[in-house]
Amino acid sequence: MSHGRPVNPATRIVRMGEAPPARLIEVDLCVVGAGISGSATALEAARLGLSVALVDGLPALGGQAVNSIIGTFCGLYRNGTHGHRFTFGVADDILEALQRENACHFRHGPMTTVVHYDEIVLSRILERMIDAAGIIPLVGATLHGVRRDGNRVEEALFVTRWGDVRIRARGFADCSGDAALTYQAGFACREPEEPIYGSQQAVIEGIRLDRPLPSREEISARIAERAEAYGLIRRNGLIFTFPGRDVAVLNMTHVETPLDPIAASRTGLIGKDQVDRGVQLLRDAFPEALGDIRVRAYGFPGIRQTRWIKGRHQITADEVRAGVRYPDAIARTAWPIELHNAPEGFVWEVFDEDHVHYVPLSAMIPEEAENIIAVGRCIDGDPAALSSVRVMGPCIAMGAAAAHAFDLAGSGSVQQIDIARLQERLSDNLTRTDGVAP
Ligand SMILES: Cc1cc2nc3c(=O)[nH]c(=O)nc-3n(C[C@H](O)[C@H](O)[C@H](O)COP(=O)(O)OP(=O)(O)OC[C@H]3O[C@@H](n4cnc5c(N)ncnc54)[C@H](O)[C@@H]3O)c2cc1C
Repeated sequence: MSHGRPVNPATRIVRMGEAPPARLIEVDLCVVGAGISGSATALEAARLGLSVALVDGLPALGGQAVNSIIGTFCGLYRNGTHGHRFTFGVADDILEALQRENACHFRHGPMTTVVHYDEIVLSRILERMIDAAGIIPLVGATLHGVRRDGNRVEEALFVTRWGDVRIRARGFADCSGDAALTYQAGFACREPEEPIYGSQQAVIEGIRLDRPLPSREEISARIAERAEAYGLIRRNGLIFTFPGRDVAVLNMTHVETPLDPIAASRTGLIGKDQVDRGVQLLRDAFPEALGDIRVRAYGFPGIRQTRWIKGRHQITADEVRAGVRYPDAIARTAWPIELHNAPEGFVWEVFDEDHVHYVPLSAMIPEEAENIIAVGRCIDGDPAALSSVRVMGPCIAMGAAAAHAFDLAGSGSVQQIDIARLQERLSDNLTRTDGVAP
């Protein structure tokens, strides 16, 4: 069979001479980290007409929401069984697209509503949205340097397998989760004194749909009883099922997430071993419904809280408990304090039905920086406070806020924007009380 081209195409000799200069990209906004925070920031900024580059060290977009198989949007709804939504805009588009593709499940629990989703479908939704918005994607690109002029970042430097890239921009969004940009720029960051545990997530398949599925409470109780005997570090796991499907997301492990390259690499191995132990436990404990389950996909190690910015304001757990509405509030949620600070379990402090707590812009701006805004799990809070605002609902709202703040700042300082104008633009995410989930 022939397609009309030469059967054996010619080759040429190449040899690397001097290292070629880094490729230069110039944009209005450089977003470092393409998780839910970075994606939301980039999408909102592109809608405002800014030119945007969205960069990630992984060879894929979507961050942990996709690649660590988080599997559930939390913190999007008010407490209570049918509470209203807190965050709109990009969140509307994501939820509508997931619903169109029959790829999500709204679970109205007694505490709040959460949205379970198919992570493969979410990855394609985000990719299509990013592509359609004209955002420049740069994946497989690890930040390895920042050029500063005073308190302004001028350029971020990235290493890729295809050569180095420099991005020059007016504004830089640190959506790296670990405050990689702020840290490499030399600005102050915080690290917790005690480890805060991450988790190795996995998708399991092979749930028998013709047998009654044990309840969440039964599964959690059996895990708690048997975890030690199966060598599980964490004792209070759970699985998230999709009605009518034979798959579930397994969330029953704890692993340390150190900032050391070798130790961090081991995390993945320890985590997968923990998943395998958890699967065996479930098979043995529930042979009828779960006796045939197996792992369909292991996520990349899930990282909760490692290093974050020292902001102009640090959110405290007491402010969260009191529902302080800051003068520069830009996002809201009611998610519990969910601090994974012990190998065997985590602190879970739930708020009542009327509770709302807020994220102030000043917790997203590194104290000394003029043109960096952090978004997502590397904003400034004490460990407990951060654990209540780093879930994906408020991450999307913070992304919208960062995009509008950069737009308002122009080539000026993000420390000096007109907060009233910012809040006016974000009023849906601060005041709307509709959007109860189906
Ligand atoms: C196991 C686990 C379970 C969770 N469960 C839930 C849940 O059920 N619901 C919920 O809403 N939230 C949950 N969370 C919290 C939530 O998933 C995260 O806080 C949220 O996804 C953070 O999004 P992000 O975009 O800020 O960070 P990330 O998704 O971590 O994105 C950061 C991105 O930055 C990139 N990056 C980092 N450093 C560099 C660098 N130097 N150069 C280039 N790129 C870099 C990373 O590759 C990554 O893709 C969970 C978290 C974990 C770990």
